[in-house]
Amino acid sequence: MTSTTPKIAYRFNDGVYINLTNRCPNLCVFCIKTKWQMDFHGNNLNLAGNEPTAQEVLRALEDELVKAPFKEVVFCGYGEPTMRLDVLLYVAQTLKGWQAQAKFPPFKIRLNTNGLGNRINHKPIVGELRRVVDIVNVSVNAQDETTWRALMRPEPEYRDAYPDVLLFLQQCVEAGFEKVVLSCVDNTGADVNALEALAKKYGATFYVRSFLDEKE
Ligand code: SF4
Repeated sequence: MTSTTPKIAYRFNDGVYINLTNRCPNLCVFCIKTKWQMDFHGNNLNLAGNEPTAQEVLRALEDELVKAPFKEVVFCGYGEPTMRLDVLLYVAQTLKGWQAQAKFPPFKIRLNTNGLGNRINHKPIVGELRRVVDIVNVSVNAQDETTWRALMRPEPEYRDAYPDVLLFLQQCVEAGFEKVVLSCVDNTGADVNALEALAKKYGATFYVRSFLDEKE
């Protein structure tokens, strides 16, 4: 059953995920936020425009992290976390402090992103991210610009942004994060072999996630 109060921090596998925003410049054909009506495995992720402050995120995290073991804290969504860069950086900086103080058993800080963060924020953001995030997962999903446009369905001002996604990926690899992942969704029509080659070319780890359709 879906909880009615929107979740700011929620669990999935070994991770605690942070729901910073529902906003995103894309409308991907495989995005489950509309298909699953903002529900994720019983968690209501519909913030209804009330995006949490950094303090609200940290309170929600502290409440969640003490409940059970976890291996990573993930900035994810439903939405693009770099739409709220200041809050992301503040929360991640606090998490870095918790890592340093061993407030919790060892864990990683991961960002899941569509790779548009530089464009969204009108500045290079990888240097700031590198100081507070351990792992970056860039959801590239397409081996070329035409496929990217067809699958990601970006807003008009981002229609030419595929090269920016690849540049963001390259900058992340060069910045020396613990791990940089190029991810894609299977069964979308994209060329998975070409995407794997792209990951290799950029020095990123390749990951294919399943196309999520019906709720489990
Ligand atoms: S980038 Fe992510 S949040 Fe945005 S539409 Fe695509 S899948 Fe959904």
